[in-house]
Amino acid sequence: MSFIELNDVAKYWGDVKAVEKFNLKIEEGDFVVLLGPSGCGKSTTLRLIAGLEKVSSGEIIIDGQNVNDLDPSLRNISMVFQSYALFPHLSVKENIIFGLKVRKVDKEERETKLVNVAEKVGLSKLLNRKPSELSGGQRQRVALARAIINENPICLMDEPLSNLDAKLRHQMRAEIRSLQKDLKITLIYVTHDQTEAMSMADKVVLMNEGEIVQQGKPKILYEEPENTFAAKFIGNPPMNLINLEFANNENFIPIEGDNFVVNKKSDKKTILGIRPEDFEISKKGIKCKINDLDYQGADVVLSLKLGQQEIYARFESKIIDKISEDIFLTWDKNKSHYFDFESGIRDN
Ligand code: ADP
Repeated sequence: MSFIELNDVAKYWGDVKAVEKFNLKIEEGDFVVLLGPSGCGKSTTLRLIAGLEKVSSGEIIIDGQNVNDLDPSLRNISMVFQSYALFPHLSVKENIIFGLKVRKVDKEERETKLVNVAEKVGLSKLLNRKPSELSGGQRQRVALARAIINENPICLMDEPLSNLDAKLRHQMRAEIRSLQKDLKITLIYVTHDQTEAMSMADKVVLMNEGEIVQQGKPKILYEEPENTFAAKFIGNPPMNLINLEFANNENFIPIEGDNFVVNKKSDKKTILGIRPEDFEISKKGIKCKINDLDYQGADVVLSLKLGQQEIYARFESKIIDKISEDIFLTWDKNKSHYFDFESGIRDN
């Protein structure tokens, strides 16, 4: 049995489906990220695990125990919210040890833990300040410290970095991940940011409209998306999804004058997926018109017209000097992804 299990969990608000058919197993010490667009049910799932909401059906098991009716305070779970939810009138120190005080942990033990945790998150010199006297990143650290000082085996985080600027977010990602591994916490983390999910998670759970679309290691979601939703959601720019024409048992890209046959063996209309970085420049390739060029330093992302369709291709910037209005592209067949045109489900 896994450490945390959600078995066929569903949650409805009246007629509104928030979560449905939700099956997930989490091992102890795992870093699991719930990823998906706004409104897909990520926060609801987190709140169900925390016990802040009750499931409509299904069961939540933690460490072998069905917790469906267990009070949140008895679930041994810490939570970090997007808003940080700090007490403005309390100092950093008082905010961090608040939970310990509530549980009547004695003063000496509180102080020892405080010193230890404050050092881990880099707050040792700021303990007497009020939250209003801190930067966004420092407030985030207080919320983190307050969560880990309780030494609960499970921590839930709901978009904890979304109020920070890009540079700080990057730094905090690494810090949270190293804290999690160091303290061996089982962490369930919610975000709509695929970069964040891919860089932090042991396991990504991609959701859409209340259901799991795909779950697995970040590399698997990137290299083998199970359907067009997963293919489009992950990657920046996302995977190109090229609608192929189907006739005489052949799938092809209609190109003026000379159709380009892609997937001879298929017996139905297919979508071809190619990651922007999997294109190569070759005289033998298909002629594409360059619409736009996005210079990103080391890389350049070209927006191109392939037949009638818009695609993106990523190359090292040093190619810029060699290109003009048109470019000839090929791609490695082994890096082609195929999806059924009707269902969007992976077909290779
Ligand atoms: P996410 O965290 O992925 O943005 P949520 O879990 O917050 O999504 O919401 C999932 C769905 O449930 C949405 O359609 C949302 O409007 C609805 N929802 C969330 N909380 C409530 C609530 N308290 N009452 C009614 N509907 C809700």
